[in-house]
Amino acid sequence: MKLHDIFQRPLRDLRISVTDHCNFRCGYCMPADRTYTFLPKSQVLTLEEIAELAGIFAAHGTRKLRITGGEPLLRRGLVDLIAMLSSIPGIEDIALTTNGFALKRLAAPLKEAGLNRVTVSLDSLDPAVFAELSGTKIATPASTLAAIDHAASVGLPVKINTVVQRGVNDNEIISLLETFRERGHTLRFIEFMDVGSLNRWDRTRVVPAVEIRERVAEVFPFEPVEPAYHGEVAGRFRFLDGKGEFGIISSVTQPFCGSCNRARLSAEGKLYTCLFAKDGHDLKTLLREQGPQAVADSLRRVWRARDDRYSELRGREDQPKEKVEMFHIGG
Ligand code: SAM
Ligand code: SF4
Ligand code: SF4
Repeated sequence: MKLHDIFQRPLRDLRISVTDHCNFRCGYCMPADRTYTFLPKSQVLTLEEIAELAGIFAAHGTRKLRITGGEPLLRRGLVDLIAMLSSIPGIEDIALTTNGFALKRLAAPLKEAGLNRVTVSLDSLDPAVFAELSGTKIATPASTLAAIDHAASVGLPVKINTVVQRGVNDNEIISLLETFRERGHTLRFIEFMDVGSLNRWDRTRVVPAVEIRERVAEVFPFEPVEPAYHGEVAGRFRFLDGKGEFGIISSVTQPFCGSCNRARLSAEGKLYTCLFAKDGHDLKTLLREQGPQAVADSLRRVWRARDDRYSELRGREDQPKEKVEMFHIGG
């Protein structure tokens, strides 16, 4: 059964956060100067519950899954989970977003279990800037590059996510592109977003997509690429010299709510219909207390009533000030 919301947007993609823990403390997501209370284990979906919920989504038209976190590679049993998810009828693509730290250990078994692709987040090639941005000393640009190379060597297609912040890492736009063009990976620049309420978002630190394009064009001429599918979030651009492409996710300056086909499932089992939502719908309790049919009924009700378009309305007074934190739903 296919579900559509009030703007006729289908439920095509599901992002699943498998843990709220992370071994990094990126300032735009989990600032290091805060203390965090993590979910007790009993409140986190089990692997079997995640797979069961994903199956219900698939029966309602979901074709693509993205595993995220927190840091998803910290979740015990992740390889088993990927194997369960890849056997769900209707699921065509399973991707994972990671900070890369545990990829050396896990890339091969994850691929073997059915993972189709991986996205690695890397914001700087400068060790000092990397340390400042990631809030950790356990990784460096070199170790992250090695993890990326390793994932590629086991046959996983790799993309790179870079959150661009003015005055912080925007001077690395070209060097990052150069690095990954040479490796044959697509880099996607992400505008710094006002997710959650901890990250002290400041519009002056957003580098608009138009400016990123202009800066790239001065060095690497490119042309726009048609989206691979309706609802693709990144604007795509192909280098004219044939050396691959790059993307820009411009949630702040060029919102794409009109084609937003994504649902998000938190580690706690709540369904969020928007990255900027305040509250989620508790599917875990429904599943545990009433079973899969009650979840399916709720999913249909929630998606059919969905009217989210936060990024298009950003700045309006009536928009929520309190929002779910990024490490709960994973971007
Ligand atoms: N821990 C994994 C990682 O960092 O790749 C997965 C979860 S992380 C929340 C998912 C993506 O969201 C990362 O690429 C991260 O850079 C991005 N992100 C986090 N906070 C952001 C913000 N405020 N604005 C834009 N992107 C953000
Ligand atoms: Fe962790 Fe990813 Fe958030 Fe950074 S962006 S703190 S790596 S969850
Ligand atoms: Fe989708 Fe919400 Fe982002 Fe708009 S703001 S694209 S509805 S997640």
